[in-house]
Amino acid sequence: MLCDCCKANEARISIAGEGDFCFDCHNARIAKTYNLKILEHFAREIVVRDPSNRPHHFIITNLVMPDYSEWTAEEGSEGNTFSVFVKPEDDQADALMRLHRKVITGLQHQTLQLQDSKFTISNALQTEDGQYCINDTGCGRIEYDEITGGHHLIIDGRPVTGSDFLRMLSQYEGRNLCYQTRELSDDILEKGMILIPVRIDAETILNRIEETLSWFLDGTFLSYKRESACSSALNERLDEYELLCHYGDPETARTVGQAIIDRLLAIDNDTDEFPDYHINIIKKIMPTY
Ligand SMILES: [Zn+2]
Repeated sequence: MLCDCCKANEARISIAGEGDFCFDCHNARIAKTYNLKILEHFAREIVVRDPSNRPHHFIITNLVMPDYSEWTAEEGSEGNTFSVFVKPEDDQADALMRLHRKVITGLQHQTLQLQDSKFTISNALQTEDGQYCINDTGCGRIEYDEITGGHHLIIDGRPVTGSDFLRMLSQYEGRNLCYQTRELSDDILEKGMILIPVRIDAETILNRIEETLSWFLDGTFLSYKRESACSSALNERLDEYELLCHYGDPETARTVGQAIIDRLLAIDNDTDEFPDYHINIIKKIMPTY
């Protein structure tokens, strides 16, 4: 179906009572209504090579809504997909650059490793371009498989059935498999990264904030001389708080966020900015729904 507005591009979004639009026309309408600045001219296709020199063609799209702007790089229905979420008022050229970086970084970290053995490895994935073993750390997108009517994983842009996935993992027999699902727009697992368990319960987050403050406060007072070091240390604590906002219970996250704000406001200080900067960060990451 063609777009009701330009009558040239394929319609991608249906707005009840208004019509069917391509992303460009839809974005232009939203931008006009909400007085937003959108990026009209950008490369719609990029080609990036993975470490095995396989070219990957990505279609770049941008979908602007009143409360978010999503940049997506899609490599066909069974390929890699990367995404970046920003606010519509954020710098969209910067968001697009972040998406490019994510694609390049994502392709550098392959979950499957090509084996150069001449012999068939029983727990490897056999493909047209060789056999692949699976790393002990990695990721795959969970996707509906229209052919089988079930679900499979897309790992490094390849469909992998549940039984193939388990068979590859059998090389780690006897170990535990821990798992965590994440949004496509979350930071990707890069080369040299592992997943480690992190406590995000309210008590731990608040205790760590208190411990960090104890390194810099003189009683209840923060001197301007220690403000910079204290702020840097607090930023790390707020990274942990962000994990609670993202993965924990929203109600708990709001309560903890307010408790941190109250704690910071209770600190006497002779600085100009403390703790406004931190409070703004907390308000930005605190769940609002
Ligand atoms: Zn259109």
